[in-house]
Amino acid sequence: MNYVNGKFEEGEGNEKYEVFNPAFGERISVVREAKREEVDRAVDLALDAQKKWMKVPISDRIKYLFKLENLMWDRIDQIAEVTTIEHGKTFEESRGDVVRAIQNVESAAAASYQIMGRNNKQIANGIDEELVRVPIGVFAVISPFNFPVMIPFWFFPYAVTLGNTVVVKPSEKTPMSMEMIMSLVRDAGYPEGVIQLINGGREAVDHILENKKVAGISFVGSTPVAEYVYKKGTSNRKRVQGGASAKNYVLVMPDADLEGVISNIIGSFYGNAGERCLAGSVLVTFPENHDRVLNLFRKHASELKVGYGMDKETDMGPLIRREHMERVEKFIELGQNEGGKLVLDGRNSKPKKYPGGFFLGPSIVDGVSEGMAVMKEEIFGPVASFYTADSFEDAIDAINSSRYGNASSIYTTSGLYAKKFSDSVNAGNIGVNVGVAAPVAFYPFAGMKDSFFGDLHPQGGDDGIMFFTDRKVIISKW
Ligand code: NAD
Repeated sequence: MNYVNGKFEEGEGNEKYEVFNPAFGERISVVREAKREEVDRAVDLALDAQKKWMKVPISDRIKYLFKLENLMWDRIDQIAEVTTIEHGKTFEESRGDVVRAIQNVESAAAASYQIMGRNNKQIANGIDEELVRVPIGVFAVISPFNFPVMIPFWFFPYAVTLGNTVVVKPSEKTPMSMEMIMSLVRDAGYPEGVIQLINGGREAVDHILENKKVAGISFVGSTPVAEYVYKKGTSNRKRVQGGASAKNYVLVMPDADLEGVISNIIGSFYGNAGERCLAGSVLVTFPENHDRVLNLFRKHASELKVGYGMDKETDMGPLIRREHMERVEKFIELGQNEGGKLVLDGRNSKPKKYPGGFFLGPSIVDGVSEGMAVMKEEIFGPVASFYTADSFEDAIDAINSSRYGNASSIYTTSGLYAKKFSDSVNAGNIGVNVGVAAPVAFYPFAGMKDSFFGDLHPQGGDDGIMFFTDRKVIISKW
């Protein structure tokens, strides 16, 4: 369902995308591709709403966030359950997705106040100059399947509280949790047209890109689509910020307290079934600690219970679609064909209880070298590749040779190596003894190289304020 002008609507486009419960492999819903007229109408209504909304004092706009936050806490388990049903991740992971969304609601409230009362200066006797931040208009938020709740919240709470209105277009693979969020938006009392939901896939995105009244786009997804949205959006005079694909390297130094951190490392590679833009993908060791790390890692990985995310004992859920599961399995084959050694084969650990599900257990390919597909391409699944570096410098070179720069982590007890690593790795989010280097809501969600398009990053702090407002400098003499 779409949500336009405060009402849920069926939509008029063709039923185009099947939605599955990936644990059962069963179709549970279908998504219509929004027609151009539907997108244009949602944008027109959002623009009308924006003209009134921008005049609402910011202190009042913020109050809607408080209501929304309370409603989200009240309904957190239901939102998490819907997320698990449509996405597959475990219930606890889904809850984490919602909690991160709520943190962005809080961060948006705090950040929005900061645009008031700053930069007002008397520049000479009788002459005042002030910088005023003003809202821009209608923004579109286009999100991927892997964090269906959190990622739209990286953007829309900031956009609307700063006086803009938004059209949200979630992934056609996971549309249901955002539909539930829209019922909370309605219950929070947001005026009609301030927050709209439009469903669809590639065509709906094109309608957004081609609509002249959309002022800016916040996109998160794969690199080819991010690049397409960035180029087409900016050539149509829109602001665009685009989070994109990743290949993340985790370096374990010989001095690391391995027993103490192993579950954290395992969580980085296999949490969210590896479908996380911050997931560890390549584990870098040295000849002196390789066997020790591999043995412990394999032991813990093989103990993970793969299953339906609503079952309490499940540690890791299914992948999003059968085609994606098959694609990840191809990487396992490719890893072997290109010279790696398969030391844990997740194709053998599919849960018998759910024969139709898109499951793949934790897998490990050892002995990978530079140039191999599993060393450099995004897999987005539960496959860990082990690379042995000759030296610290070799490790850094291997990490920095990636086209991506989303995240990278080091495990060490040495402050010197931690510092050298943080200084020299070209990735936006750096973890020191932290395997999922996810910035909290009041920090920008960074990302470099082919992992990000644009200048201002998702989430709070100055980036959110800068992206969703324009500057006006007023000089006055009395
Ligand atoms: P995707 O690129 O397939 O889809 C993202 C969005 O773009 C969806 O809303 C989809 O409907 C739309 N889309 C898909 N194909 C399109 C096309 N040809 N033209 C226009 N729009 C199109 O990504 P996904 O598979 O949903 O998500 C996984 C990807 O997202 C991974 O590469 C992952 O690394 C990345 N990701 C990045 C971050 C980050 O912050 N950098 C965060 C989460 C996910």
